[in-house]
Amino acid sequence: MLEDKNPLRTQLSELGEFKLIEHLTQNFKISQKSTVKGIGDDAAILSYNNKQIVITTDLLVEGVHFDLSYVPLKHLGYKAVMVNLSDVYAMNAMAKQITVSIAVSNRFPVEALEELYAGIETAAKIYDIDVVGGDTTSSTSGLIISVTAIGEVEKGNAVLRSGAKPNDLLVVSGDIGGAYMGLQVLEREKEVFKVNPNNQPDLSMYTYIVERQLKPEARKDIVELLSKLDVKPTSMIDISDGLSSEIIHLCKQSKVGVDLYENKIPLDPQVISTCEEFDIDSTTIALNGGEDYELLMTISQEDYPKIKSNPNLTVIGYMTDGKSGMHLVTRAEQKIPIIAKGWNALKN
Ligand code: ADP
Ligand code: MG
Repeated sequence: MLEDKNPLRTQLSELGEFKLIEHLTQNFKISQKSTVKGIGDDAAILSYNNKQIVITTDLLVEGVHFDLSYVPLKHLGYKAVMVNLSDVYAMNAMAKQITVSIAVSNRFPVEALEELYAGIETAAKIYDIDVVGGDTTSSTSGLIISVTAIGEVEKGNAVLRSGAKPNDLLVVSGDIGGAYMGLQVLEREKEVFKVNPNNQPDLSMYTYIVERQLKPEARKDIVELLSKLDVKPTSMIDISDGLSSEIIHLCKQSKVGVDLYENKIPLDPQVISTCEEFDIDSTTIALNGGEDYELLMTISQEDYPKIKSNPNLTVIGYMTDGKSGMHLVTRAEQKIPIIAKGWNALKN
């Protein structure tokens, strides 16, 4: 489907490790005050004065987390950065630096890695972060990318998973289920392509959900918005594995229960229509699909007037006491227990 039409194939061995690192990182500039020394020495130097620092890391493995038959390398580079920034924002912190480590087989030419780094560079520019280091090594098969993100937060402003209280409102940013349905469309087109390689897929009906899968955005804007609205959530988590599994994390760590309202879950019309086409229930997708990278938070009732007319934030439920348990209140007003069926990285 997205075959490599680039006739240029420079073997990695032609450059060697050091030239390759130099080549891939030549465009990275330093823009953060907290970056004292970036790429080029044995270690980066960062200076954060009185701020607290958050650090998070993620590992993406070809064949487990991504399939290069339909994921363009540029998008992969972008997404590898997003999944990490999303974890920083979920702490109510601002991301400032990343390191990028890659293991590549000689199946990849230099031009492929240039594409990957173009995506990383775009992400770094848009989200205003410095790339301050990494590591480069070979792998016997496939591509592995590990990104580490570093962020800062004012002392006392970090938001943990453990702070939710009974009667707090459960709030989600954006809409959910899109990334999972985008993946279903891409997987279907891949099967069609295998049978008939001349059949160019028409994805025009699915642009929003395919983009949600291939080019997710971490919600830096939501952290900025919350600060502007003077709302500090009582707990927060990013939605990487699906709403139900993230709700369970918040409830367990905060020792509270929840009533989640099915009719409040924000879904894009394209998610609803694609669910109909695939004959899947859209609530099931919202609960169990993953990779939306929206923020799920709880806020105190007092803060409701500050968020109520904001189109980026939707109240989807209420926290209850721990003994009441975790429930979905269906459109028919039945209460059913919430269980985690989310995407589990260790399942396959
Ligand atoms: P060392 O031998 O000390 O590990 P390297 O030669 O691996 O040093 O790295 C040299 C510099 O380039 C370091 O600043 C390192 O952080 C950076 N670097 C190495 N690989 C990458 C990469 N894939 N992306 C970004 N920076 C990298
Ligand atoms: Mg090294």
